[in-house]
Amino acid sequence: MSRAPTLKAKASILFPMPLPEPFDYAVPDGMELRVGDHVRAPLGQRSSRGVVWALSSDDGSRNLKSVESVYDAPPLSEAMIEFVNWSARYLVQWPGIILRMVLRSEDSLLPSPTELRFEAAAERPTRMTEARERVLRAVLEQGPGSAAELARLAGVTPGVVTGLAKAGGLTRIERPADPPFDPPDPDGPGVALVPQQQDAADQIRRMINAGGFQAALLDGVTGSGKTEVYFDAIAHALRQDSDAQILVLLPEIALTRAVTARFMERFRAEPALWHSDQGPKERRRIWREVNENRARIVIGARSALFLPFQNLRLIIVDEEHDATYKQGDGLHYQARDLAVVRARASRAPVILASATPSIESLANARAGRYAYIQLPDRIGKAVLPDVATIDLREHRPQRGLWLSDPLVEAMAETLGRGEQVLLYLNRRGYAPLVLCRDCGHRMKSPEVDAYLTEHRYTRRLICHLTGFSMPRPDKCPECGAIDSLTSVGPGVERVAEEAKARFPEAKVEILSSDTAHSAEKLLALIDRMERGEIDILVGTQIAAKGHNFLNLTLIGVVDADLGLAGGDPRAGERTYQTLVQVAGRAGRADRPGRALLQTHDPEHDAIAALVAGDRDRFMEAETMAREALGLPPYGRLAAIIISAKDPSQADAVAKDWARNAPDADGIKIWGPAEPRYGMVRGWHRRRLLVRADRDVDLSAWLWAWKKNMKPVSSVRVTIDIEPYSFV
Ligand SMILES: [Zn+2]
Repeated sequence: MSRAPTLKAKASILFPMPLPEPFDYAVPDGMELRVGDHVRAPLGQRSSRGVVWALSSDDGSRNLKSVESVYDAPPLSEAMIEFVNWSARYLVQWPGIILRMVLRSEDSLLPSPTELRFEAAAERPTRMTEARERVLRAVLEQGPGSAAELARLAGVTPGVVTGLAKAGGLTRIERPADPPFDPPDPDGPGVALVPQQQDAADQIRRMINAGGFQAALLDGVTGSGKTEVYFDAIAHALRQDSDAQILVLLPEIALTRAVTARFMERFRAEPALWHSDQGPKERRRIWREVNENRARIVIGARSALFLPFQNLRLIIVDEEHDATYKQGDGLHYQARDLAVVRARASRAPVILASATPSIESLANARAGRYAYIQLPDRIGKAVLPDVATIDLREHRPQRGLWLSDPLVEAMAETLGRGEQVLLYLNRRGYAPLVLCRDCGHRMKSPEVDAYLTEHRYTRRLICHLTGFSMPRPDKCPECGAIDSLTSVGPGVERVAEEAKARFPEAKVEILSSDTAHSAEKLLALIDRMERGEIDILVGTQIAAKGHNFLNLTLIGVVDADLGLAGGDPRAGERTYQTLVQVAGRAGRADRPGRALLQTHDPEHDAIAALVAGDRDRFMEAETMAREALGLPPYGRLAAIIISAKDPSQADAVAKDWARNAPDADGIKIWGPAEPRYGMVRGWHRRRLLVRADRDVDLSAWLWAWKKNMKPVSSVRVTIDIEPYSFV
């Protein structure tokens, strides 16, 4: 009888790097490993951080290096590993690239550092000085703080604080630098739901009760109270499972602060807020708290999908149609689509909510792949605003002006009643183009083939694509003529200038990513608008998202035609969505609002449907157009972008890719073509566009193609599944 050899354990470890697969390591004696554990292992000459992707037994036939150490932190969940593997396959990326999105600060795996704080002691020390008195006053007024904080408040050196502590006047307390999140209370104060909201909430409750994965589209007009419905869903999920974690994705993270206040009121606890401008300390805290299952409600931008949830029981994607869910650089992904994947991996429901759902989600709902939950009416007395067009062919503004007479009259009436006006134009800056009257030279960005936008407040010309900027020159760089440069077309700054000139008494402000580049500035501006300190707000698309301006009763859309033209299959849909949202800002309280759209094309489908208030008619027309062209969701698209410093190399590699595409039925390849911005930051770009029938496994086909191609150093190849940008 032969004895079976003792089998030792072998761990496959995935590293957060662009490597094709996990590598195998021996598990040293005495080390206990679980799938998902965070470990360190030697990679090349260095020790690297990775995750145990699989465990098996080692027959000893290979001389494997050993795992070095394992972190004392919860492992990634099975659902997370499934999500990473699935996303990598779908996006045609190495799994390590997806894992890199998951693993953020390494400090998150260690216990929170502690910080030393000082609070007032029970007794006063015998030796007091004027400086020590000031420190004591600061503690009594502001509460406990670090030596540096208290010293700053008291206007003394930190040495005075520590000296006072030594003398017995202060007590030292240690606490975690990353405080844990309090558990949410599902039974916090809520608003009673009206019957129609209750129906929607009941449908979602049934989905949660059923357990397992299911997707639903919550389709409700602006102001129909969607937020109350998903608050009910969150409360229900928390009651069903006391350890449940819930993810709420929002498109515009600056707005999350306003939503946060509502969450705190409803659930009596601070939610975890995750977004890209967060400092490293806050990231470290949230990542650890999510991984430890202590952060229970997470509100986040798209990258929150990659947080290491342990028990994700519900995902809500608010404003699911919003184009900012599409990540367009680095790793290209559509967060709404990946949210559905994440929910499926977690066997949990996902709710996609919007007043203007994407055609993709509507098609899924109509085909029965998603549950379809509708909230057609507005709550309370608010009604949808009246929408009318102003035909610019009849009411042409004077040269150099942008507001037509009927719009100006309507503004005067509105301001006369003490109500507010929003002028909407989706163009930042003062003018989208600066040209020379003498020679016709157009000011362009040096690195891309794009015009520079004039910003008058900063007196600079800025490229919105690359961020290049320069002072506005006094003379034409081409012909040298002095004062010959002229601004063409309007941006929000120019419209604001005109509004001020026409209504000198009115308080006019601009809301764009230039004036509200931080969450604080944006919130301050929204506050002023809500308090009625602004009469006319001139805004870009960030003004179209999620505010409640109760005294706003007139919306003027300066150029409703912007976005209807162009080669982007989603342009019509996006214009319509924006117009509905902008129009939906007016008349939310008991005052009816109205929206006036300035257009050269009042008969256009999108505009006519909006005036008729007939969303379904518009969506029907768009859907049929896409179906006829086999565009998403009736077909699938992928872009392959090839970039190189040398244009002939970009051409050669792009042609090589085109020649080596695997044969397949139901797939068509267009290009290589030079995209509109053919050169960005010195890289020349070529694009291949792939269209596939719906039933083709496009990812599998792209993988076969990618594996066929030898990487060329100095050439970048990016695969973008379901591209949104066609520039
Ligand atoms: Zn010139």
